[in-house]
Amino acid sequence: MTAAFDFALEASDGRARTGRITTPRGEIRTPAFMPVGTAGTVKGMLPESVRATGADILLGNTYHLMLRPTAERIDRLGGLHGFMNWDRPILTDSGGFQVMSLGALRKLDADGVTFKSHIDGSKHRLTPERSMEIQRLLGSDIVMCFDECPSLPADRDRIAASMRLSMDWAARSKAAFGDRPGHALFGIQQGGLERDLRAESAERLRAIGFHGYAIGGLAVGEGQAAMFDCLDYAPEQLPADRPRYLMGVGKPDDIVGAVARGVDMMDCVLPTRSGRTGQAFTRHGVVNIRNARHADDPRPLDAACGCPACRNYSRAYLHHVSRAKEIIGSMLMTWHNLQFYQDLMAGMRGAIAEGRFDAWQAEFHAARAEGDIPHP
Ligand SMILES: [Zn+2]
Repeated sequence: MTAAFDFALEASDGRARTGRITTPRGEIRTPAFMPVGTAGTVKGMLPESVRATGADILLGNTYHLMLRPTAERIDRLGGLHGFMNWDRPILTDSGGFQVMSLGALRKLDADGVTFKSHIDGSKHRLTPERSMEIQRLLGSDIVMCFDECPSLPADRDRIAASMRLSMDWAARSKAAFGDRPGHALFGIQQGGLERDLRAESAERLRAIGFHGYAIGGLAVGEGQAAMFDCLDYAPEQLPADRPRYLMGVGKPDDIVGAVARGVDMMDCVLPTRSGRTGQAFTRHGVVNIRNARHADDPRPLDAACGCPACRNYSRAYLHHVSRAKEIIGSMLMTWHNLQFYQDLMAGMRGAIAEGRFDAWQAEFHAARAEGDIPHP
């Protein structure tokens, strides 16, 4: 590994930006959508199939991997890339968000958090230092700071205290990460929906200095309007020359709205999780393939999509295998959804580069407003 981690902006249109992140394991075109490979697999997909959709980078979950099969075992077997057969960039989360979601199963203190495994009840501890060690053992290319995130709504005092603790942990994460050429560490802005707390958080992160900056603590129940209000200022509080990553977002229209507000990277389980329950994302909105109206429909899910589900199968077949809970139903629907998300990102990158992102957004919203093709 010789190349350094770098980010270059290539064009902007309004607040929307397109560019590229360089890593020793390959380039990441931005705006980028990262499929979620929770436990060392993007469920229902071979890694080469994920790549075929156009994904440049995957996300792995520290919480799941540390419990099973454990970071130490993955390290002994050569790291997560080789273990899961994905040689391109991987971003790992810090474990913080998922541990905080455990509710009664976890206990927070100023040094870190102790929690019980959802798998077998065994006791574990995460601190900024331990999270950095786990992400290093996994071989992650983009490492996230260990932070704490309250679910919204929460009162201002709680949000402020949580943000300040997270900023202390960000400094400890940076110290523990050390100097690792070719690997990047991202800080995470917190502060809920409070503009001044977001500004304070951004200031503290800038003072520490990171390769990239995430916007954390959104998409936790506040709703799209409140999230967009926050994104009207939060990205611009962060350095313009570094990638900005909005964590855990979202639905296609959330993603388009976030890119329009200056976000460069996103991840979400929606395309994969929805695929397994028969929900397809299309340019005309969400289609529930299990709905009876598709049972006799010989047409493709989306005639304009190039994925195998749309190229080689009818809505009737997808309806049948999804209803019958056949494994291929989950595989095809997941592939389609990941393809739709990557096509969405490619469309936005092209439109931003050509200075026609407003027109692209108008077309995106008009197609959704039309709704799905009528019953045959
Ligand atoms: Zn498709």
